[in-house]
Amino acid sequence: MRKRSRKKKRKIFIPILVLIFCCVFTAMVARGWQEKQKKSKIAKANTADETVEINQSETTTEGQIEAISENETETTTAPETTPSPDEKIVYLTFDDGPWTGTPRLLDILDAYDVKACFFVTAQYMENDALVDMLKQIKDRGHNIGVHSLTHDYKKIYASVDAFLADYDAMDDIILKATGERTKLLRFPGGSNTGYNKAIRTELLQAVRDRGIVYFDWNSFDGDVEGKKGQELIDQTIKQVNANKHSILLMHDMPSTAFVHDAMPTIIERLKSDGYRFELLGMSTPPRQFAQ
Ligand SMILES: [Zn+2]
Repeated sequence: MRKRSRKKKRKIFIPILVLIFCCVFTAMVARGWQEKQKKSKIAKANTADETVEINQSETTTEGQIEAISENETETTTAPETTPSPDEKIVYLTFDDGPWTGTPRLLDILDAYDVKACFFVTAQYMENDALVDMLKQIKDRGHNIGVHSLTHDYKKIYASVDAFLADYDAMDDIILKATGERTKLLRFPGGSNTGYNKAIRTELLQAVRDRGIVYFDWNSFDGDVEGKKGQELIDQTIKQVNANKHSILLMHDMPSTAFVHDAMPTIIERLKSDGYRFELLGMSTPPRQFAQ
């Protein structure tokens, strides 16, 4: 009798055990699927974030905020925005550097929390020193574009191939320094320089075909034309004020070290004139002398 009862109990006990196991297993699978869905939502938000401004986080869902805060820690670069036509905006650009004096300029820009685009060359630094300086420029939130490796007009404008070879050599150094290639370019002498006349149409097309955006300027501090001190400041303020959206050309190289001295006054004056400093990047409407 006892034996039969034990057998009966076992008969009931085993299906219950199986049922409990099935329930637990189902719950675990369901939870795993939910987690997967959540992760995929965050991944989607991350991808979307690449094309939106960081400060739009106020209007996003919880998952997106999580993704955006991750994104914020990955980059120190200020978000690029499309300017409204009524705003007074100035884009600082520095050509021809870097050189050993560049950190002083970076300190001045940091003090005012202003970002700039550096169109760089390998004229004044090379090898590891150049790579380290470019990395520092990028790490401090500025943008880097190609100006030229050699800045040798006759050599780079000898043919389209010669130009692109020079561009790629500089871009390789930028890649080594920052981990990414740049698509920002400023032609030495500007896009309409007399040196590129024979190859201009073909050259501009080749550059566009590669997705490169070239930027000329609509204001200039006069530094390589002998302007210094107050004269340089006056020309800069006057030329920037001639445009609501001003792309300001300056140089950052040993022979124009005096530009650094003028920067605090230039920044303060332009701020009091109502200008906002924006970082020139791929979304900036370009100013192009030659199309
Ligand atoms: Zn130059």
